[in-house]
Amino acid sequence: MSSPKETILDPVAGFGVTFRTMFKKTVTEQYPFEKVPTAPRFHGRHQLNRWPDGLEKCIGCELCAWACPADAIYVEGASNTEGDRHSPGERYGRVYQINYLRCILCGLCIEACPTRALTMTNEYELADNNREDLIYEKSDLLAPLLPGMVEPPHEMMISDDHHDYYRGKTLPIVEVS
Ligand code: SF4
Ligand code: SF4
Repeated sequence: MSSPKETILDPVAGFGVTFRTMFKKTVTEQYPFEKVPTAPRFHGRHQLNRWPDGLEKCIGCELCAWACPADAIYVEGASNTEGDRHSPGERYGRVYQINYLRCILCGLCIEACPTRALTMTNEYELADNNREDLIYEKSDLLAPLLPGMVEPPHEMMISDDHHDYYRGKTLPIVEVS
């Protein structure tokens, strides 16, 4: 049986948290009117990276697709040929799709990638009003061209040996007369 003191306090005890919280600073974020930056290592939309000459890092090996627990990645590799080179070495990713209706942004795919072709950005606005637009194609995922980069296809500009790309060799300095 409750003591008289408990009987008096019980009805107000439940408001303890309410009273303690009401005088604290509010933390409500006014999204989407005010966008707060994410943590630097937040897992957002993927990006397919390039070498400094613009060639693609993806070699179409499909390891990311096999690592994905949600079966969200589809890759078709193809061979680089004379006059149609997209990456250093033999192969490149001809088709690359990520289905954001399935993706849980776990990051296992980027761990599996042997060339660091695949990384994740901080972009988190991945909602839409139809299914089709949430299947991102290679063109949606490729990193933008930075100064000095040339859109593939083109020949290897860093070195004739594709191993030099992986060794971190940079673009040769062009003398300007
Ligand atoms: S982040 Fe996870 S769920 Fe999304 S594509 Fe990569 S492995 Fe699949
Ligand atoms: S993103 Fe990486 S793991 Fe996936 S196909 Fe390309 S090279 Fe292979």
